[in-house]
Amino acid sequence: MTVKKGGPGTGSYLLLINLEETKKVNVGALGCYKFEPGLYFYVGSGMNNLDKRVERHISDDKKKHWHIDYFLEEAEVVAVVKFRTEEDMECELNGLVSEICEETPVEGFGSSDCSCKSHFHRFR
Ligand SMILES: [Zn+2]
Repeated sequence: MTVKKGGPGTGSYLLLINLEETKKVNVGALGCYKFEPGLYFYVGSGMNNLDKRVERHISDDKKKHWHIDYFLEEAEVVAVVKFRTEEDMECELNGLVSEICEETPVEGFGSSDCSCKSHFHRFR
């Protein structure tokens, strides 16, 4: 994997999210799912708006637009990792994360625009 140095606001990110207790969440168009407590990983990218995008995820004050927005109403972001790359590495990063996590609770979560099964994983 070649990682080129990107501009300050361009690249991909990984959110580590903690869910304290079992919750049913209505994930927008995907429908309602039951989520077990634990650590979840979400992979996204912000090409030219990386910092703003991550800031938005952490903020409580927003209109729900992405699948992750619904989940974050119930759970807490505990860590953010930013990968500042010129090229969009979102799906490559997601592939690595999915191998580590081994559990994909909702198909299509965060991956409406690509061929990944999901950009949202639960760590086992
Ligand atoms: Zn993808």
